[in-house]
Amino acid sequence: MSRASRLRCRTLLSAAAAGAICLAGGARPAKAQMINAGQVLSDRQTAAATALRDAALKGTGASNLARSLATEVGPRLAGSTGDPLAVAWAVRTLKALGFSNVHTEKVMVPHWDRGAESAEVTAPYPQRLAVAALGGSVGTPEGGLEAPVVAADSLAALDRLDPAKVKGKIVFVDVRMKRARGIEGYAAAVPVRAAAASHAARLGASAVVIRSIGTDDNRLPHTGALRYEQGQPRIPAAALSAPDADLLAAEIASGKPVTLRLKLGARELPEAESANVIGEITGSEKPGEIVLLGCHLDSWDLGQGALDDGTGCAIVIEAARRLGELAPHARRTVRVVLFANEEFGLSGARAYAEAHKQELDRHVMAAESDLGSGRPWRLSTHIDMASYGWVREISRLIFPLGVAAGDNLAEGGADLSVLLPARVPMMELDQDATVYFDYHHTANDTMDKIVPRDLDYNVADWVVMAYVAADIPGDFGRAPLPDPARK
Ligand SMILES: [Zn+2]
Repeated sequence: MSRASRLRCRTLLSAAAAGAICLAGGARPAKAQMINAGQVLSDRQTAAATALRDAALKGTGASNLARSLATEVGPRLAGSTGDPLAVAWAVRTLKALGFSNVHTEKVMVPHWDRGAESAEVTAPYPQRLAVAALGGSVGTPEGGLEAPVVAADSLAALDRLDPAKVKGKIVFVDVRMKRARGIEGYAAAVPVRAAAASHAARLGASAVVIRSIGTDDNRLPHTGALRYEQGQPRIPAAALSAPDADLLAAEIASGKPVTLRLKLGARELPEAESANVIGEITGSEKPGEIVLLGCHLDSWDLGQGALDDGTGCAIVIEAARRLGELAPHARRTVRVVLFANEEFGLSGARAYAEAHKQELDRHVMAAESDLGSGRPWRLSTHIDMASYGWVREISRLIFPLGVAAGDNLAEGGADLSVLLPARVPMMELDQDATVYFDYHHTANDTMDKIVPRDLDYNVADWVVMAYVAADIPGDFGRAPLPDPARK
């Protein structure tokens, strides 16, 4: 299914918690197939879930957890000095909060360091620009490189440029990300960050700069990983802040030849050792069955990683901690996994899938929080539709908090995407991301951006979802394999 038809499905469904469900392929199933009338919570379970929800709404410790990580560790890019500090923070925090089986699982991670960087227009009107290398970029020669600029307003437009006019130049890819409540604006723009370098290199460019993938007007560039294509030269790649992209565009619009000097000290260092950090609330009846609540422990280097993904870790830790206060615990084990290196290649996720492959068929549900602190507005799933009655029970409990029912096309978040081939059922509490991409991957991802009240709403939704998944007598079946046509 294309992303466009997926979005159409989502629009159709977002208003109806109990409405028809959009399946992969767009077919609408017969009603009897959709909902099993026997999949209802007991009075005891409804009372417990309601109490968990309402207690969280009275206030949680989630914002303190996120602030603790941002304060005591701060930036924690894979392989950097902050990485082991973050692992130590996670271990001591989970232990202090009473989790069981707290341990680390070794993960080897790449180590990239940005070094010193600068950019300036040298003609026709010299000005300095705020710039940040994209993650994984090679550096420029030591003295920097200076070249004329060629602009393109999309990857497709870049591909159409005459190689003779690109050779040796710096390509400027100027695409504006659209603000949205969901991630559609980001999804549409982020291929520029990932692919511009290799598209430009294919035409012989010496470097590439892009307008930051973000929605703000601050003079702060947004970093994020790029992906070099096999077989293409690796050229330096960096993002300009939005106002600096405007400035460069205005200089180009003057009609005079524009030249740019770019200096990136980025370099790849030897691999480093990091770890996934795991803690559990042991199940009272089926401890071998797992409900996985995930986040990523690493962050980019420019900010404090308060929103990305400090808040996500705070939400899942706090939701699970509250389940640990139940006596007895829910039937299944609730496992919190703080993944290593999501940002720069999903190393932690891949290591988890490999280390736990023998028990993935006992992962009853997995969900990841990784979209800042905005309140959830939609519950999407990727489960066997014969089990949708249980999701309706979750929806019934969190609908009053503003969470509508979504579709069955959830992908579970970046780290969990590696579990899709194992058909692990997924849930997504889609958060309001209207302002998230103002700060994402910038120096402005700092603790003052956390909205504590919104985190309480997140915890209330997560604790209900996790409790129901961990305590129901049935499960969510096995999820359909991802539809290859969707990407
Ligand atoms: Zn993230």
